[in-house]
Amino acid sequence: MPGLRQRLISIILLTIASAVLWPILGAVPALAFYSAALLLLYIHHLRHLVTLDEWLKTSAPATSTLPNATGAWGDVFTRLSRLMHSQSRSQEKLSAALERLQHATSAMPEGVAILDESDHIEWCNPVAEQHFSLDFNRDAGQPITHLVRQNQFAEYLVTRNYSEPLIVRQSRQQELTLSLQLIPYGNKQKLLISRDITLLERVETMRRDFVANVSHELRTPLTVIGGFLETLSEEDQTGSKIGKRALTLMTDQTIRMQRLVEDLLALSRLENAQNPVQEGNVNIVEMLRELYHAAQSLSAGRHHVNLKLDTDAQLRGSADELHSAFSNLISNAIRYTADGGEILLNWRIDDGQGLFLVQDSGIGIESEHLPRLTERFYRVDRSRSRETGGTGLGLAIVKHVLSRHQANLEIVSEPGKGSRFIVRFPENRLIVTQDNPMPKQS
Ligand code: ADP
Repeated sequence: MPGLRQRLISIILLTIASAVLWPILGAVPALAFYSAALLLLYIHHLRHLVTLDEWLKTSAPATSTLPNATGAWGDVFTRLSRLMHSQSRSQEKLSAALERLQHATSAMPEGVAILDESDHIEWCNPVAEQHFSLDFNRDAGQPITHLVRQNQFAEYLVTRNYSEPLIVRQSRQQELTLSLQLIPYGNKQKLLISRDITLLERVETMRRDFVANVSHELRTPLTVIGGFLETLSEEDQTGSKIGKRALTLMTDQTIRMQRLVEDLLALSRLENAQNPVQEGNVNIVEMLRELYHAAQSLSAGRHHVNLKLDTDAQLRGSADELHSAFSNLISNAIRYTADGGEILLNWRIDDGQGLFLVQDSGIGIESEHLPRLTERFYRVDRSRSRETGGTGLGLAIVKHVLSRHQANLEIVSEPGKGSRFIVRFPENRLIVTQDNPMPKQS
């Protein structure tokens, strides 16, 4: 900083000159000379400070209007000018990058909206405007729940489990079906991605309707065949060994097909978005006692089945659907556990959530199969599943029921040691009675 150094040298010279003048002219003139010089210096700095202050006060200080100055102030102003140049260059770069990003997101086929920590819209692209029938200039800062007026979406937002997208039919545009996915990021902000899946939904509906219709059409012929096979088996007193065996096989296969048809129909009912959950207060304790007795008769004394009820909390949901999901998990535990094995059914509150556990000491599952178990017809061991009367649809039904109740399924298993199927229901689905208040943690 040569300017500042010069100033420092001039002050030192001034002080030396005053000191030299002191013995020659006397104290008063020397001090008067020193004070006058300092006053001039002070006025010089004050003038430049005022100029700088006035320049900074202008609404948009620009380099072109930067005041002229000499000496140390000249240096300061030159530095300031350089700083402003580099700042405006990086600002230009930033604006260009932002513009490019906005162009890119505008060209995206998906709707993108940024939500702040209280779920108000901070920004959205034109596709999101179209999907949610909103105008960003008018609706910026509005809570997203005012614009997507769907109970399902409000529930999805509060559960904070965004692993699966939510499918909604846009009420303002009857024909539009959207897949919504929330992605938390940064400082409690969220990215809301919306995809138009109307066409996909239509194809999926056709597939679902086809499977449901075929299953429905098969129901009656199968009932007739089953009925006649039963009559034939009862009447066939003198039939040959081969004939008897054929009748038994035909009856078994008919029962298998009937079970398959019933599971397919159950699945298509669960998949149908027009078929909402028949909400009610479900007495889980009573349901599990009944399922426990059913499990004992299915096991026929081959396993040690235990029921552990740690809470009498009820659930808000569909009794039929929950019964079907729980019963599938329990029957799997029995079917995939060798004689003499242990099976535990447990209902408790864990970390504020309702937890249902089915634990067995059965054959277990290799970890590579776990992510695919809930797919339709996915079986680890096809022949074992068939032998024990499985349809390959049990866990697919469980998955659908749970997702309709915003619950999730965790599977922990070790081959040869056993499996644990853990179902967690969100706190807002729990109904805790006065007599048995919800324990904080169990
Ligand atoms: P399935 O009718 O074949 O039992 P599911 O959908 O109920 O069909 O189950 C899918 C597959 O997951 C089964 O075929 C079986 O391989 C495996 N599985 C399910 N539950 C258990 C369990 N408790 N122990 C071991 N394997 C299991």
